[in-house]
Amino acid sequence: MKSLVLQNKKVWLEDVPDPIPEGEWVVVKIESTPICGSDKQAYNSQEPVRGAGHEGSGIVVATAGSSLLKEGDRVILNPLSGCGKCIYCRTGNYIYCPDKPDFYTHFAQYVKVQDFVCTPLPEDISYDVGAMACCALGPAFSSIKRMNLRAFDNILITGLGPVGMGALAIAKFMGARAIVVESIPFRKKMAEEFGADVIIDAADPDALALIREAAKPGRLIKAIDASGNPSAERLCIDAMEPGGIVSFVGENFGQIPIGPSNDFIRKGLTLMGSWHYNLSDHDEMYSLLRRSPLVPKLITDIYGFSQVQEAFDKFMTGNTCKVILKPWQ
Ligand SMILES: [Zn+2]
Ligand SMILES: [Zn+2]
Repeated sequence: MKSLVLQNKKVWLEDVPDPIPEGEWVVVKIESTPICGSDKQAYNSQEPVRGAGHEGSGIVVATAGSSLLKEGDRVILNPLSGCGKCIYCRTGNYIYCPDKPDFYTHFAQYVKVQDFVCTPLPEDISYDVGAMACCALGPAFSSIKRMNLRAFDNILITGLGPVGMGALAIAKFMGARAIVVESIPFRKKMAEEFGADVIIDAADPDALALIREAAKPGRLIKAIDASGNPSAERLCIDAMEPGGIVSFVGENFGQIPIGPSNDFIRKGLTLMGSWHYNLSDHDEMYSLLRRSPLVPKLITDIYGFSQVQEAFDKFMTGNTCKVILKPWQ
């Protein structure tokens, strides 16, 4: 089968043996595999990377001892893996499993994957839309659920890459009023089309005052940062009124200043993060995939494996939302 390799801004295909099912590990023929913002590291790596790609959907084509899946089942390929035994794996939060087995790339024509991390994909949801349940929607879905976003609320969303745009899509599905912060013109225009109520430029020195003004006469007590940018993360915290909740879904492996007295004791804030959604929430995720008119619009570009270089080059410009790769084209 064909599998992707990335190194130093180059992307190419190589031939590798087809995977073989084993125990609860099934083989899925991949129909749709989106590029994630976190795959940028692989694109820029000085060493060849063969393990990038962790989102997707496809059809089960071979099983060995699975009790959950059979050949012909359509599935969403959720990111990463889990031991299947610990409290996280058994309660749908396998993403936090401390004992993950080796994980195989989804940038390939087939993947060997554990049955329990695959979500069955109903017939009436396409492979491409089903693949949006992974990083495009998963982290924001979980955040919005945990902060109990309602139609009456304002929500601040900073950073409108694919994850932030997914957050905006869900916020509008829930009927909330969305104040968004972004600087790339393509993304600002897309946010407008998605129904963002107020769009503020990330570089505006008055961004904090503009956000506070935009929330009036309502309160602003819910925010999601999808940028991973330290100043945007701090902006979310500063923009919150007392009792507010901020969820971080943009990766930042560095640190930001947080004060126990000023941010927590005297303001009562809740800060949280979210990496993916609980797999037991799949019915609600299906409702979102089926009923939101914005979810299919998250997909701005589709490329076959024959055009992988072009696909990544375009993705890296920032002038896309979700870019999907089709391994059989
Ligand atoms: Zn991802
Ligand atoms: Zn586990």
